[in-house]
Amino acid sequence: MAMSFSDRSVVRDSLHDPCQYFGMIDLSPIIERIEALLNEGTDQSVTFAALEARMALEKVCYDRLRQRHDYISQAQLRKWQPGPLINILIKDVDQHLGQTVVVKIGKGEAVEGVTPPDEDFVELGTEMGFDPRRIAKHWNALSNLALHVRIPKDRKDSVPDYGDKIAIMNKVVEVVTELRKIAKGTMTFSGFGPTVSFVCKCGETNKRREKLLRDGQYIHCINADCKITWKAAKEDGGFGFEEVTTPVNCESCKTENHMPWRFYMDMKYDQYGTFSCLQCRHKNYVQWRLTQVAPITRDAAKE
Ligand SMILES: [Zn+2]
Ligand SMILES: [Zn+2]
Repeated sequence: MAMSFSDRSVVRDSLHDPCQYFGMIDLSPIIERIEALLNEGTDQSVTFAALEARMALEKVCYDRLRQRHDYISQAQLRKWQPGPLINILIKDVDQHLGQTVVVKIGKGEAVEGVTPPDEDFVELGTEMGFDPRRIAKHWNALSNLALHVRIPKDRKDSVPDYGDKIAIMNKVVEVVTELRKIAKGTMTFSGFGPTVSFVCKCGETNKRREKLLRDGQYIHCINADCKITWKAAKEDGGFGFEEVTTPVNCESCKTENHMPWRFYMDMKYDQYGTFSCLQCRHKNYVQWRLTQVAPITRDAAKE
């Protein structure tokens, strides 16, 4: 799909940091390495080629994430496997991620309401799309074929040293074809479209694509050291953001202290959390506790 922008500021928003388009991953040395290993043709080299190919798929997906990390925190990704990770990015950060995108910008100044003819646009670059399901399938197949030892069927079965060499080679060749296609891209983008931003209490600016923002959506601050979560609320003409907190009364002065919701959610069951009261500075301790409750009746469960 081609995206043409006569107004350059739209594109600038996605390319504000030079490393966002110059720092993309270079797949050619990786592809060469994999092919050299395949050419060696031993059980060991072919197994190693499968590992390199699997890592290459991860690198491709993680690089797409890195380019878009301003728009989502690591805490919110929940998944690290390439397929599900890309699906989260498509849903929350960049709906075009799976598609090949050619970006063109207008040569001259933009005039409102006027769409310049095709020849007045110059191509900026291409990002190659890929199907996250196919990437996930390849990634799983490589490990099934090459990176695990086959479990014996019964007592008479043997435990082989390596997987089936021919099957591994065929799969690696398939993945290399996929990598070559992706390597044709000349640029990578963080997505396009108007953004909504707000500054977290920690000072970090958080951005989201307006089109993908949902009413009531939780947004973890992108600062990895910050535990604050915000809730997006659709308002007239845009979005507002409110902090998601859990109130706990101070043990000493009973003042309600609003702590970031994730402060408690990230605590393990055997862990203590502490906070100093905002009012009297008393040090409070908290812990998850199992509580016995009355049986839940069918009617109560429905409510
Ligand atoms: Zn923050
Ligand atoms: Zn207090």
